[in-house]
Amino acid sequence: MKIKKGSGSNATDLIAITLGTGVGSGMIANGELLSGMNGTAAEIGHIIAEPHGYPCNCGREGCLDTIASATGIVHQAMDHLLAYPNSPLGIRYRENGRLDAKDVFDLAADSDAASEHIIDHTADVLGFMIAGAATIINPSAVIIGGGLSRAGLPLLQKITHYFKQYALPRISEQCDIRLAQLGNDAGMIGAAYLVKSKLNKVAPSFGILAENESD
Ligand SMILES: [Zn+2]
Repeated sequence: MKIKKGSGSNATDLIAITLGTGVGSGMIANGELLSGMNGTAAEIGHIIAEPHGYPCNCGREGCLDTIASATGIVHQAMDHLLAYPNSPLGIRYRENGRLDAKDVFDLAADSDAASEHIIDHTADVLGFMIAGAATIINPSAVIIGGGLSRAGLPLLQKITHYFKQYALPRISEQCDIRLAQLGNDAGMIGAAYLVKSKLNKVAPSFGILAENESD
């Protein structure tokens, strides 16, 4: 598939990642969207980041999706509050009867060490994965969007820090990690569109996998 003019046409090598309830991703290499045999290429969210980690909706355990998404951040926070019920995370959970990723970002902004650690760990795992993915296509940019990206610059700075720590310098020196800003950058809109269309393709293929596995 050729990239349409005006939507990512100036980015020939690009990684787009959406951090929402899950991790969506798409990659453009040499001006073409990577799709693979059945549309599953570049599914960074389903690279295993932690063997024997949290269960993933793909049927395996420890995918990036289970750590670096809103769901993943809540997983990490629940682990912490079970061990430390009187921590700020535990108190927040009891007050509201639930916990979401925004609570963790808010408490991290209030210097709660456990919440800061969760955000830091999430950025570390993301930076590590992006560094690996970037080695494959040598992108000019990694664009991060989705609900979690609303945490904005502090999250982006942490991801960039870890990306630079893990990536080949020849790759990180030429690669910008930036937040998706609709209306501001046609390339980003194109990338987001591509991620979305890829996700639509991937969902049914997981259904087929699940059917085959139950045979
Ligand atoms: Zn998975």
